[in-house]
Order: sequence, then C-alpha cells, then structure tokens
Amino acid sequence: MDRSITHSCGHEQSHFVDGTFAADIDRMTARLARQRCRQCREGAAAARAAVNLLALGALVLPPLEGSPRQVAWAEKLRAARLPTVMKTSPTAPARLAEVRDAKWWIEVRAMSDAQLIASFDTAAAITVSV
Ligand SMILES: [Zn+2]
Repeated sequence: MDRSITHSCGHEQSHFVDGTFAADIDRMTARLARQRCRQCREGAAAARAAVNLLALGALVLPPLEGSPRQVAWAEKLRAARLPTVMKTSPTAPARLAEVRDAKWWIEVRAMSDAQLIASFDTAAAITVSV
C-alpha cells in the first residue's frame, strides 16, 4: 500500500510499503522515516562525487576496459576510491589509476585501502617478475 512518509530531512515522499504483519509495515515505515528522501540522498551523492573529482585534481584517469555495465560501475567505484586512498597513501592513486581493467576495480571494491594497495603491489610484482 502506498504511504506518504515524512523523511528525516523534512520532505514528504510516497512509498509502497507492504508486509504480512502490521508490525512489518510499521517497522518499514519507521526505517524509511529515519532516512533522507530520495532527492536529498541523490543530491548528497552528486556533491560527494564532485568533491571526489576535485580531490583527484590533475590525475589523468584512462578509460576503463570491459563490458559497458562493468565500465560504468567501475568508473563510479574508481572515482570514489582514489580520493580515499590518496588520504592514506598520496602516491598510490597515480599507480592505481593505471589499472584499466574494469573487472579489477569491481573485484577490489570491498577491500580496505591498505589491502587494495597491497593487492595492487602484489599483482604488479608478479607482472614484473614473469
Ligand atoms: Zn529530502
């Protein structure tokens, strides 16, 4: 059933809320009310993306290789990841930016920054030694 829910940002938005028990519907309604509305969340995401792009500055990001869906996803992951990696290791993003394989960016998305850098160094060492 469609419900009008007032979000934590103060905006009202209609949501389809369904459940077997009334308690499920109440819980889902309360969870939605604790979040910001879609428009506010998308605005915040766009602002974060802009800040991330600024943080990368002069870093040249080569086009990624893979299927169109992989490339689209990996570009977002890379754009969000490189600025955070830059905070822990200022020189790492320049090396990581050379990775053009979209699949690699998707595979390492759950790794911590330290694991990501170590994984890249290991892969690079293997490539050099072979
Ligand atoms: Zn809002």
